[in-house]
Amino acid sequence: MVSNKTTLLVLGAGVSGLSSGILLLKAGYKVTIWAKDLPPNTTSDKAAAFWYPYLCNPRDKAVVWSKFTLEYLKKHAIDDPLSGCSMRTMIEVFDHKVDEPWWQEAVESYKRPILEELPDGYMDGYKVEAPLMDTSKYMEWLLGSYTSLGGTIQERYIASIDEAHMEYDTVINCTGLGSIELVNDNSLYPVRGQVVVVKPNGLTQITADDEAHNNLAYIIPRETDIVLGGTAQVGDWNLEVDPKDTEEILQKAKLLAPSLDKVTIIEEKVGLRPGRYKVRLEAENIAGKTVVHNYGHGGAGFTLSWGCAHEVLCLIQTQTRNS
Ligand SMILES: Cc1cc2nc3c(=O)[nH]c(=O)nc-3n(C[C@H](O)[C@H](O)[C@H](O)COP(=O)(O)OP(=O)(O)OC[C@H]3O[C@@H](n4cnc5c(N)ncnc54)[C@H](O)[C@@H]3O)c2cc1C
Repeated sequence: MVSNKTTLLVLGAGVSGLSSGILLLKAGYKVTIWAKDLPPNTTSDKAAAFWYPYLCNPRDKAVVWSKFTLEYLKKHAIDDPLSGCSMRTMIEVFDHKVDEPWWQEAVESYKRPILEELPDGYMDGYKVEAPLMDTSKYMEWLLGSYTSLGGTIQERYIASIDEAHMEYDTVINCTGLGSIELVNDNSLYPVRGQVVVVKPNGLTQITADDEAHNNLAYIIPRETDIVLGGTAQVGDWNLEVDPKDTEEILQKAKLLAPSLDKVTIIEEKVGLRPGRYKVRLEAENIAGKTVVHNYGHGGAGFTLSWGCAHEVLCLIQTQTRNS
């Protein structure tokens, strides 16, 4: 089989693959995607998905990537009603005094809330204005943007990068947890997340408790529902809804916002975050052909998405200039 030199192959159609595909198309490259699962069946479709650099490393790069993402979303998604993306106020709460967050410089609107803004039992917090991506619309919007720019997509599983290199010289690997098998990366692991989606009750502010007594609790009001979270079970591959987790999530939400005392459940969802000690974003040369890896975004795949996609583009431009 003759390898394709002019078209780039992206592996994966989650938020990382689609965002990378879009920026490559915008820069004038021809792009095709192969993915085992397409939206709405990827991990990305299960996400909350609020802009927040959670469970991701390295921190210095995460600040740059998340800042880039925030600015990109403000410019290209917020004003598009089809994107499902809107600016929201988020308060992260703590039951003790805290220092400034490591991600502070990624966000323009950073403030400390006054005591009256905090739920009972909490002492401190961070308050930011940042984008919320309603995945039920946002993933479809990404897919639509990708195809309308001329990108093609195929549902296809591959067992090795060699299989992709038989047809394409340059491959961008955005397979998330799939890279455990695809490139034998044993530093990847699942961080199980369960959420409960309930009917809206008038709440508009996002509230999160990552490390205080309600750890890990978050309330994410969207246009037509509220996402309540969550869990972060390291090494747990269980994709089934656990009723015990649901019960605990509802209990934690009620403590954070008493108006959630009685809720109507719409849906319960489980997804496996691609945990890794750091995002793998680098180019690798395999027998004269290129792979650019972009996976391992942990709990921040959306938050880092456009920043990482931009770095993929820069790596591809360097590779193509040198070849
Ligand atoms: C409950 C929950 C809440 C979350 N909340 C947030 C949040 O608020 N904010 C945030 O930023 N992030 C959040 N995340 C994290 C975020 O969802 C992930 O970091 C992100 O979805 C990872 O995206 P990805 O595109 O890298 O991987 P995925 O979405 O997993 O996509 C991987 C793609 O690769 C394909 N693939 C895999 N293996 C192969 C193969 N061998 N051959 C072909 N295709 C393959 C898959 O089919 C899929 O298309 C949350 C996650 C969960 C589970």
